[in-house]
Amino acid sequence: MIIIRGRQSETGAAKLADQTYYITTFKKLPAEIRDRNTIIYRMKSLVCITPRQFEYRDIKIPSPEEGYSLIKISRIGICGTDLHAFEGTQPFFNYPRILGHELAAEYISGDAENFKKGERVTFIPYFHCGKCIACRTGKENCCTNIKVCGVHIDGGMAEYLIVPSYSLIHGQQLSLDELALVEPLAIGVHGIRRAEIISGEYVLVVGAGPIGLGTMEFAAIAGAKVIALDINDSRLQFCKEKLKVEHTVNALSEDVSKQLNEITNGDMPTVVIDATGNLNAINNSFRYMAHGARYVLIGLQKGEICISHPEFHKREATLKSSRNATRQDFEHVMNSMKNGHVDPTTYITHRVVFDDVKNEFESWLNPATGVIKAMVEL
Ligand SMILES: [Zn+2]
Ligand SMILES: [Zn+2]
Repeated sequence: MIIIRGRQSETGAAKLADQTYYITTFKKLPAEIRDRNTIIYRMKSLVCITPRQFEYRDIKIPSPEEGYSLIKISRIGICGTDLHAFEGTQPFFNYPRILGHELAAEYISGDAENFKKGERVTFIPYFHCGKCIACRTGKENCCTNIKVCGVHIDGGMAEYLIVPSYSLIHGQQLSLDELALVEPLAIGVHGIRRAEIISGEYVLVVGAGPIGLGTMEFAAIAGAKVIALDINDSRLQFCKEKLKVEHTVNALSEDVSKQLNEITNGDMPTVVIDATGNLNAINNSFRYMAHGARYVLIGLQKGEICISHPEFHKREATLKSSRNATRQDFEHVMNSMKNGHVDPTTYITHRVVFDDVKNEFESWLNPATGVIKAMVEL
């Protein structure tokens, strides 16, 4: 953060630490930012310029227009989407882009009703149009004009961010780490809602990354008997120890179907949920469905899914995608955190300050680092 002390005019240039910054007009910024004795008018941001290239850039603090609010970022959770964007494997993605959508923040200014300055907040990072067929039918999460913050528009890897006022959520005494984890858990909750789980049924969750872990926890809350499938034994161990998942299967073992058959007493899982976004895993999992099962795809990848029509048909299977999450899903997550039903802070394996993200980010692509969730502190 650049802080210029002393009396400055609101336009012109100021010199600090051998760098010249140009002060533009910032009348709309809150008093603390345009206060003449403590002028903060530039902020640090981290821009993903092209795949595998980050650059810290000093940019203007945006000012909130009508319908928008300014928040000061405190935590940024690093997500698969951010990693894929950095790698260059994220569908629907353009560069340069400021990543980051799993945020905990402080409310600074704007027209969000009942929000107070200094209040802890998080937000729903999927901005919707309110007019399209999806929005008109209560499915803002798959709005035809959706703008996902940090994906289609610049996100929260910066000191401040402007967000639509309607997207904000009160922090409700949750910690900053918990607030930054609401969004990834809401993704799992939405998948569970799409699956329409019936208490007591076997739910196979494929992929034990942060999204898969959240999905397993909320499947259990919905009454499911959860089976975790992943290729990484340490992650499966984590499922057993921290999440109390009873059944785990390594996807690399030769007899996955046989193991699932035994666990489910010959029925096979009546719900399969993909949280890998890996084409092979997605294609393989069609075989693990019980007759009459539902298959929900939370994970996303770029290729085309290939299925055996007769295998799918004989099961009278249902295939559903699950995109983003709704406010109802966010609320369910926050209530479950408050009630102590979930403690996703156990997912946090890596913690860095904002200045170190550029250097550390690449290492989080390597599974050998044991990363589940990396958390950035500001
Ligand atoms: Zn995310
Ligand atoms: Zn819409």
